[in-house]
Amino acid sequence: MMSVARKIRILADAAKYDASCASSGGTRRDSRDQKGLGSNEGMGICHSYAPDGRCISLLKILLTNWCVYDCLYCVNRVSSDVERARFSVEEVVNLTLDFYRRNVIEGLFLSSGIIRTPDYTMEQLAEVARQLREVHGFRGYIHLKTIPDADEALLARAGRYADRLSINIELPSQAALDALAPGKSSQQIRQSMAGIRLKLDEAREHKAQAQQIRSLPGRPAAAAPPPRFAPAGQSTQMIIGADASDDRSILQVSAGLYAGYRLRRVYYSAFSPIPHASAKLPGQAAPLVREHRLYQADWLMRFYGFDASELVLPGGMLSMDMDPKLAWALAHPEWFPVDVNRAPRETLLRVPGLGAHSVQRLLDARRVRQVRRADMERLGTAGRKALDFVHLPDHRPGAVPLGAPVREPTARRRAGARAVHLQPDLFGWAEAPAAA
Ligand code: SF4
Repeated sequence: MMSVARKIRILADAAKYDASCASSGGTRRDSRDQKGLGSNEGMGICHSYAPDGRCISLLKILLTNWCVYDCLYCVNRVSSDVERARFSVEEVVNLTLDFYRRNVIEGLFLSSGIIRTPDYTMEQLAEVARQLREVHGFRGYIHLKTIPDADEALLARAGRYADRLSINIELPSQAALDALAPGKSSQQIRQSMAGIRLKLDEAREHKAQAQQIRSLPGRPAAAAPPPRFAPAGQSTQMIIGADASDDRSILQVSAGLYAGYRLRRVYYSAFSPIPHASAKLPGQAAPLVREHRLYQADWLMRFYGFDASELVLPGGMLSMDMDPKLAWALAHPEWFPVDVNRAPRETLLRVPGLGAHSVQRLLDARRVRQVRRADMERLGTAGRKALDFVHLPDHRPGAVPLGAPVREPTARRRAGARAVHLQPDLFGWAEAPAAA
C-alpha cells in the first residue's frame, strides 16, 4: 500500500500546474545560500490572498491524479503514464489538520482529477470540506476546485463549506477545447459558473435581508445568520499559449466572465510543455512575460476602465516590451497632456504612473486648491513618472518627449542593477495590485 508521504509527493506535485490560487508576481526565494529560513518554491504549499488582503499559506493538493478525461495539455490525462495516487477523504482531512496545528498552513486548496463521475468526485471534495468544518470546527481558508458537470446540489454543498470555489474555463474557445480537451464543453463550464453566481447572489440577498431583521417573537433582538455560500466568491483559470488564441480574444473572454458570472479573478497560466506531449501542442512554453502582460491588462480592464480592444496592438496581441497602459498612452498622444486640475477621474486613471490611490489623492487635493508640480512629486515615483503626461500651473511636459525611455527607480540603480533604460512596470512604481 502506498504511504501517505508518497501520495503527498505525487499529488502535491500534480497540483502545482493549477495557478488559480497562486499569488502572481511574487519573487522566488529560498535559503540555499545559507541565509534566511525556508523557501516559497516547490510544491505542496502555495500562497493566496484572503478577501481582506492577507497573504495566506495553503496546502495545495489533488485528491487524486487519476482522471477519465484526456486533456492533451494536462499531465494527469488518462493517456499519461505518470504514477497515480489517491487520497481518501479522511487522509486529506487529517493532513490539513496536522499541517494547520503545526502552523505550517492557514488553509487548503483542494482540486482533483475526475474519477468515476463528476458527481462522485464533487461529492468527495465537498465531503473533505464538510468534515473539516462540521466535525473538526476548522476555521481556516478552504478553496475547492469544482467539477463543471456536477449536480447543482453538490455545488451548493461545496459552497456551504468552502470560502472560494473555482471552475477552470481551461481554454478561450470551444474550438480550442474540441482540439485539445475532448469532452469538455465551454457551455457546460459557463452553466456551472452561472449556477454559482446565482447562489452567490442569493447569499448576498439573504445577508441583506438578515440585517433588516431586528428581533423575532420571544427571542432576543438579533439578526438571523444568513446561509453561507463561498464568501470569497468564484475564480477561474485559463491556459494561454496552448492554442492560437490571441490576447484580444483572451481578454474579451475574461471581460465576459467578469461581467456575466461576477468572477473575483481570472488566472492566466502560461502553457508549459509536459512529458510525452501531443504533437498538437506547441513544442515550447508560452513566454511568462505574456502571462504577466495579460495580468496587467486584466487589472486595467477591471479597475481603470480600459476595454480589451484598446489595450492590444493592431495584430491582436499585447506589447511584450512595455506595460499595456504605457503602450496605450504612446499610441494615443491626442489624450495628452492631461490637465490634472480639470480632468475627470476616468481620464486621470489613464495617465501612466497614476494608480487608483494616487488619483484619489489628487482629486482630494484639488477640492481645496490647485494641484501643482510639488504635489505630483509628493506622490513619489508614480507622480514623477506621470509628469511626462500631464500639465499643471507650474509644469508643462516636453523636457522629455513622450515615449522616451524611462530610467529605473533610483533605489534599484543604487542597489547595483545595470544602469539601463527600462520600460517602467505599471505595478512596480504605481500601487501594487491587490490579488483576490
Ligand atoms: S479534467 Fe482536469 S485533471 Fe482531468 S485531464 Fe482534464 S485538466 Fe487534467
